[in-house]
Amino acid sequence: CGIVGYVGHRQALDVVLNGLRRLEYRGYDSAGVALLDGAGSLAVERAAGALSNLEKRLAEVEDDRFAGNSGMGHTRWATHGAPTDRNAHPHRDASGQVAVVHNGIIENFAVLRAELEAAGVEMTSDTDTETAAHLVAAAYADGPTAGDLSASVCAVARRLEGAFTLVVTHAAEPDKVVAARRSSPLVVGVGEGEHFIASDVAAFIEHTRDAVELGQDQVVTITRDGYRVTDFNDVEVETKPFRVDWDL
Ligand code: GLU
Repeated sequence: CGIVGYVGHRQALDVVLNGLRRLEYRGYDSAGVALLDGAGSLAVERAAGALSNLEKRLAEVEDDRFAGNSGMGHTRWATHGAPTDRNAHPHRDASGQVAVVHNGIIENFAVLRAELEAAGVEMTSDTDTETAAHLVAAAYADGPTAGDLSASVCAVARRLEGAFTLVVTHAAEPDKVVAARRSSPLVVGVGEGEHFIASDVAAFIEHTRDAVELGQDQVVTITRDGYRVTDFNDVEVETKPFRVDWDL
């Protein structure tokens, strides 16, 4: 339902939680965050119910693992799987290296899930989303897109049917957040030494009013210093920057 991603110089957890709060008006049933700390650790926390449940849980566990400068967050409006802790996003692959959050529906998830299960993957949720985490992990581990997160997300996006905004992080590329979109909103916020992605500019407007709207079937990779937009074939495309000149 609501999505926020961040790479920059601030504590990503603060930016992400503030952003999610700004998106609360859209309604949701669960929330979660994934933080990267640069030392190769990917920390995930999630909780069914209000954002305050997630914050309570974070206050109990909060340690260095959640102190990184890149991360992402999600508020969920369940379509596949009950609104429980285990179905809350982010979802991870078996190694715990890859995390994804997702808005929308992956229409062909049953086929993808069967394929993954046949390959020995064990599902840990009832969501359509989790399939994407395993597919990205596989694309990153092996084959033509190995070791390249943006290219791996492109390869997976090409296989997904339906409407989705998919945001992906990998512990091996802690200074990056990658997002793909088809028929579901995604905007980039361009700051000084920091970049944002969100389902709505409201999530980052307190930090920057310089934005870029992603087109249909595009992928964006944000880092501290820049952003790169491609089509699903990983070919760079022109972007349309705009300035948010309205007040919320
Ligand atoms: N289909 C996904 C789920 O049920 C995402 C729902 C959403 O857009 O929040 O978990």
